[in-house]
Amino acid sequence: MKLVTYSYKDQDKIGALRDGAIVDLTSIAPTMLKLIEMGPEALIQARNIVESAAESLPLDSVKLKAPIPNPRRNVMCLGLNYAEHAQEHYASSGKKTELPDFPIVFTKATTTVNGPYDDIPYDPGVTAELDWEVELAVIIGRTGKNISPNQAMDYVFGYAVLNDVSARELQRQHKQFFKGKSLDGACPLGPWIVTVDELPDPHHLQVTSRVNGEVKQDSNTSLMIFNVPAIIDHLSRGMTLLPGDIVATGTPSGVGFARQPPEFLQAGDVVECEVEGIGTIKNRVALT
Ligand code: MG
Repeated sequence: MKLVTYSYKDQDKIGALRDGAIVDLTSIAPTMLKLIEMGPEALIQARNIVESAAESLPLDSVKLKAPIPNPRRNVMCLGLNYAEHAQEHYASSGKKTELPDFPIVFTKATTTVNGPYDDIPYDPGVTAELDWEVELAVIIGRTGKNISPNQAMDYVFGYAVLNDVSARELQRQHKQFFKGKSLDGACPLGPWIVTVDELPDPHHLQVTSRVNGEVKQDSNTSLMIFNVPAIIDHLSRGMTLLPGDIVATGTPSGVGFARQPPEFLQAGDVVECEVEGIGTIKNRVALT
């Protein structure tokens, strides 16, 4: 299923796509987070409703929101999880490439989460180096700790497209990534969650970003250094993962700061991020 959070007549609801329209699932749970927490039973109910519902809403009659608009805690992110991105990262400061032996983990504040087609706020008084990062996002489906790689996929609820929008000079100035990764609206997410039954193999998906229609990143999740089971294994060691946790799996090469010359987002730019088998999110950069 493709599960959405949407706003219709000023009310937030959840639903599933059916033939390009939305079937309301709010009778099962008021929010996506609640639906995920309810476990497999809720998904069976959802499938039944999708199959039998008489009514649906055209997709263009609603406003899609991030599928999990208010996560309970920070978005967990992998850094330098594609070798070519690690190379461009180190090359940009004249350093020798070091591939990580362990996943580099940082987080983005919950207030970064933004809709799949909403504006990315841009305040030139705060940053002059706003950058794009297309990523596959993993949505965790159930509580778990010390999850072994061979069990890890049982903990995945589904996948979405994520743009890990980054303010590069803030990332450098504040040493830890958190501040530069956590500007309001800096995490467009969506357009929906594709449940794991519809996308059993997350490791052969093309990952692409475009700015104003020009391709900037074009890679494949097969090139991730730490794949989804390895990421879940590492993250869950001694740290409980919760249903609805959002994990961004890292971005491939082609980001703005590492380009020659560097490129950064400007007001009016339109960023599209696409992951094969999921869809495309599209966000305009807007002065705030
Ligand atoms: Mg990233």
